[in-house]
This record gives sequence, structure tokens and C-alpha cells, in this order.
Amino acid sequence: MNIVQTDIVTPDGKVFGGEVHMVSARATSGEIGVLPQHMPLVAPLEISTVRLKNYGETKYVAVSGGFIEVRPDRVTILAEAAEMKDDIDVARAEKAKADAEARLSGLQKDTKEHDAALLDLKRAENRLATAAR
Ligand code: ATP
Repeated sequence: MNIVQTDIVTPDGKVFGGEVHMVSARATSGEIGVLPQHMPLVAPLEISTVRLKNYGETKYVAVSGGFIEVRPDRVTILAEAAEMKDDIDVARAEKAKADAEARLSGLQKDTKEHDAALLDLKRAENRLATAAR
């Protein structure tokens, strides 16, 4: 078998479900490339773009953290939020980015509020980067 059944699931439902040839994701420990028969693993993901490759085609998904679970014939990504590239509302992400930047400028570093604003900024920037792929 040269395919991996891949599911990307959030609390709102399934964002992607299908067979792909390769899944690339950024774990906190580094880049992971999953081909069929990959060894099993579970790893936390960075706020980043997941790439799903099928023959010549690549689908891009903005993932807001979460976890990847790899089994030899199956990949599951569980995330608080995830959007396929074409479903990303760019104007909304731009507004979220501007809002987060405005909040950050008035906050002291190493506070809970600063950390939260930084995460909001990361999510917005990741959505914009994914939409631009
Ligand atoms: P915002 O400040 O614009 O609400 P957020 O980062 O607070 O963004 P999340 O809490 O990460 O949003 O996500 C809430 C829901 O909204 C999720 O279902 C997520 O997929 C969706 N979502 C957030 N931003 C976008 C966007 N720019 N385009 C499409 N869907 C989005």
C-alpha cells in the first residue's frame, strides 16, 4: 500500500479525511515527513502549515497546534482549529493579526496576556502564510 489514510479533526468536526501519499507536518521536535509504513508516533505540533501530497498535487492546511498520531497506514491530526487553505478568510486573519499586534504593543512581556496575544498573532500569521501558499 502506498497511501496513508489521513484525518484532520477539530472540535468543530472533520476538516480533512482522505488518502494521501505523504503528510508533512512541523512537530515541536522538528519536521516530520510521513510516508506509508512510518513507525508509530504521537507528537505535539507547532502552529504551522500541514502539507498533504497526492501525486503532483499538494493541499495546504493551517493547523493551530494540536497533535499528530502516526500509525503505519494512518495519520490523525487533532487540533483546536484547522482550516484548508481555500477556506481561510484572509481579511479575518489580517484583522486578527492587527488586533494581536495592537494588544502586544501595550503589554509587558512574560505575562499571561502577552503570551495569549503572541499565540493569537502566531495563529493569524500562520493562516496568512498558509493562504499565500
Ligand atoms: P479570530 O480572532 O479571527 O476569531 P482566532 O485565532 O481567535 O481568530 P480560533 O479560536 O483559532 O480563532 O478559531 C475559532 C474558529 O474560527 C475555528 O473554527 C477556526 O477554524 C475558525 N477561524 C479562525 N480564523 C479563521 C480564518 N481566518 N479563516 C477561516 N476560519 C477561521
